[in-house]
Amino acid sequence: MTPIGLACFDFDWTLIETDSDRFVMEGLSPTLRERLNRPTMQWTDLLNACLQEYHEQGGTKQDVINAMKKAPMDSSMIEVCKLLHSHGWTLVILSDSNAVYIDEILKHHEIRHLFSAVITNPAHWDEQGRLHIQRLIPVDAPPHSCPTGTCSVNICKGQELDRLMQSLGQLTATDPIAQAASITATSLVGEELEDNSTRSLRMLYVGDGRNDYCPALRMRNSHDLFFVRRGRTLEYLLTEFPATRSAIQSRIVLWDHPSQVLEALQAEDLKL
Ligand SMILES: [Mg+2]
Ligand SMILES: [Zn+2]
Repeated sequence: MTPIGLACFDFDWTLIETDSDRFVMEGLSPTLRERLNRPTMQWTDLLNACLQEYHEQGGTKQDVINAMKKAPMDSSMIEVCKLLHSHGWTLVILSDSNAVYIDEILKHHEIRHLFSAVITNPAHWDEQGRLHIQRLIPVDAPPHSCPTGTCSVNICKGQELDRLMQSLGQLTATDPIAQAASITATSLVGEELEDNSTRSLRMLYVGDGRNDYCPALRMRNSHDLFFVRRGRTLEYLLTEFPATRSAIQSRIVLWDHPSQVLEALQAEDLKL
């Protein structure tokens, strides 16, 4: 049976060339953007509070959408997505941004359809045109208790990836990670990935932040590729704490510009 290629992407400073939370707020209200510099509450809650205030000040849904559409995305990263998709890889996003920002920005660049799953904080518009953002793990839910200490309170990207991989049939019922996963991501990924229990998996992960470390631990060997953006917190973690780096079993590829990810993938045999 054909192997599965699973390409995982972070969103902020990976798929796009900015941080979507800060970028959108800067476009809406420099005053509210200032507030993000001095967080007084959990990040997702703070962003939600800023969007509420923006709405109360008369900001419209269209203003917010227009601000999202200006988020910069490099053409090389768009090519990366198209290249992997054309080789039959399954593309997923693991992000601490939110569902509406990601959907709108990817649709604007006409690549939303390339992604099988977007795992992030849920968001929705209400009838008054206000955008609401919630934590993926609600404040009153059991904590994710991730052992790495590198994940934020509202999302452990590693545990979310475990659920996805479980739906891909990679984990058996006796695997402790599979047992710990309480739901499958089948509904997120769609029917195409069901009944693949005998298929092998090749993975790649592209990221830049500390919270991209935990999911990268799911890659198992040197056929897998971990694209680590230079000069950001993920590279800092791997450099300053050698034990974190030695726990990574995949190949590590450092990158500054999206064109380097594209070049590296063009040099790989991506055939599944
Ligand atoms: Mg990021
Ligand atoms: Zn984690």
